[in-house]
Formats: sequence, structure tokens, C-alpha cells
Amino acid sequence: MAQATAANGQIRALAVANTNIVNEVCQRHQMWPVAAAALGRTTAAAAMLGAMQKDKERVTVQIIGDGPLEQIIADADGEGNLRGYVHNPHVDVPHTANKKLNVKAAIGEGHLWVIRDLGLGEPYRGGVPLVSGEIAEDFASYFARSEQTPSVVALGVLVGVDYQVRAAGGLILQLMPGASEGLAIMLEHMVKDLRPISSLIDTGSTPEDIIAEAIGELQPKYLHQLPLRFRCSCSRQRCESALIALGAEELDEMIKEQGEAELTCRFCQERYLFTKEELMALQARIRQDSTQDQ
Ligand SMILES: [Zn+2]
Repeated sequence: MAQATAANGQIRALAVANTNIVNEVCQRHQMWPVAAAALGRTTAAAAMLGAMQKDKERVTVQIIGDGPLEQIIADADGEGNLRGYVHNPHVDVPHTANKKLNVKAAIGEGHLWVIRDLGLGEPYRGGVPLVSGEIAEDFASYFARSEQTPSVVALGVLVGVDYQVRAAGGLILQLMPGASEGLAIMLEHMVKDLRPISSLIDTGSTPEDIIAEAIGELQPKYLHQLPLRFRCSCSRQRCESALIALGAEELDEMIKEQGEAELTCRFCQERYLFTKEELMALQARIRQDSTQDQ
């Protein structure tokens, strides 16, 4: 991921290539092409939102629609950790009239939410109704309406006939407070003339190249680069906490009915198995804690 400022600080630019991460998620979930496209676009935007965060704040993007994908979730932080999933990875919808993956039809009508966890208790949550369902325009609408920051957003994913993701990435250009009016119109034109992000990445462009190709005339100054990686924060310990939170009686039923518990992480598909003995040990911990409380 690359970041830059341009036009003497009037513009902030971010660009990202997340092809490998999207491929990893697709393999873990056996994702079909239109789901891969939706996930690739959403995670690209989430990664750039994460990079805008200060410190280690976490940002979660949630797109909820009435189409067959149902929900797309992506989260990222300021350190380049990124993960995501879609509710229904095996979705197929007819292509658009110009033979493209129809992300809009897979998502349907709905909302885009951005949840920022500042680590101060209640997270900040802002959202907008979907204006297009193609995701890039929906993020532009979010930035304009929820963060009062005029932005141009371009996102793209190229899926091969073998279901491999060949390219995924995005670009966000934002006008900073005090930017001149003419600059907004200029940016729109510059991005309109830009080749699709997915074909830029497919032909070897790096995130810095994408910024240079989009706004090279506006003297971009590059800031630090942030390498991205797929990383899930799930763990056996977190699963234990979730089981403990269910309470001793609920665990009793689990032991009687299933004799064990298997928890699957929705983000990375990692499976955590708890045997009867382990569940009984957790129960003992719950009972011990509750006697101590009294
Ligand atoms: Zn996980």
C-alpha cells in the first residue's frame, strides 16, 4: 500500500494491491468469482481506511444487502493486517450487459457501515445507504456524507477463468479541508481517464505507480509504504472465552447433546475442537468463578 499527498497538501492519495490476500481468502472459503470480486473490492477499501487510522485502531467495513451475498465483512488496522469474508461465498448471478461480474446484483439494496474501534469503549459507527452496489461509489458516498470529505474511489478485481484472482486493488483520492474547488473537477477528470485499477495491477503496476498514473501531474509526495498481510485474530483462547460466556448450563446441554463442541472462525475458517473433558474443565472454571464472586 502506498500513501501520498499532492498539490501542496490539498490532496491525500492512497493506493493498494491486495491480490494475494484476496486469493488466500478465496481459497479458505472456496469463493466463486462474483463473491471474490465483492470481497476484493471491500477489503481493498478497508485496507485504505485502516491506513488512515491513527495508531492501532481497528476499522471494520460491513456491507449488508438484500442480494444473495447477504453480507460482506472486512476489517483492517493501521499495521496492514487485513481479513474478510462474505456470508454466502457460493453465489452466482448473471453477468452485466457488458459481460462483467455483476457485483451490484449480488449485493442488492442495502447499507454500507464503517465501524471504528478507537479502543475507548463504544466504537464509532457511521453508515450510508448503498447508492450503486458496485462498492467504489458507495465508499465515495460514505466519505462525502459521513466524513464530509469529497473523495474519488476506484476499486477493481480481475478473476481468471480458473477462479484465480489475477488482480485486486484500489485507489482513494481525497480533498483535504481548504482545497480549491477547481481541484475537485480536475480529480474527477483524471480518474475518468485512468485505466481500470485491476488491469493496471494485472500489468505489473505497483500502488505507487497507480498514484503516479492518476495524479502524477500534481506532484505527489510519497509517505511511508505499508505492507499488507492476511491475519486473523482468532485463537483457541478467544473460543474458550466465548464458550465460558455461554454459561455452565448451556455447556451442560452441549456436553449431553453433542459430547463436544466445534467452533469455526467465520473469517479464516480455522476449526477449534473442544472435547467433552475440555468442556467439563471450562464448566468447572465457570462454577469456581461464580463461587468466588459470592
Ligand atoms: Zn480466524
